Amino acid sequence: MNMGFPDRLLALERLAAGPVELSGPLRADREAWDLDDVSLEGDPLIDLRIEETGDGAVRLRGRLVVDVEQECRRCLDPVRSQVGLDLDLRFDPNIGPEEETEALYALDPKVAELDLLPALREELLLALPDFALCRDGCRGLCPLCGTNRNEDDCDCRIEATDPRWDALREKIPSEPDAATGAGDGSGDD
Ligand SMILES: [Zn+2]
Ligand SMILES: [Zn+2]
Repeated sequence: MNMGFPDRLLALERLAAGPVELSGPLRADREAWDLDDVSLEGDPLIDLRIEETGDGAVRLRGRLVVDVEQECRRCLDPVRSQVGLDLDLRFDPNIGPEEETEALYALDPKVAELDLLPALREELLLALPDFALCRDGCRGLCPLCGTNRNEDDCDCRIEATDPRWDALREKIPSEPDAATGAGDGSGDD
């Protein structure tokens, strides 16, 4: 049965006849995904099986594969990656939105269509790395001049002591292990 690309809205009455399988690029406006500083590359691919559970809830199982572009948290270069999620979600008419947890979503008993996108978006956001890095050991941007240190060195020197800390130090009683600061390479004499 090929009904073209799956739509984000699934008519719930279709489930009365048995499980519904949806496969292919999910049709939805890019803006509808609303992923803040993450951008989608191409259409997210879904391969889902959706069925009634017998207790009035709807179960969704399958896979979501998304190509995304994020900014490297250190140097701001674009980082592309593919995120693949195995899903097993429940849409329950007996809970309210405030009772939703991971993999458990409220199903408004008054609606005739299930909108797949909010749940898929939520699962995707949970799966995305918080700290995308363009490479292990990315050297980031110089905080003084903005040079990308992966590409160039700059002559900026970051002083090991900042006078603003002195005022703070006077207020805080010195602790024996506060001075160790291991491995920051600040060359303090
Ligand atoms: Zn980077
Ligand atoms: Zn610099």
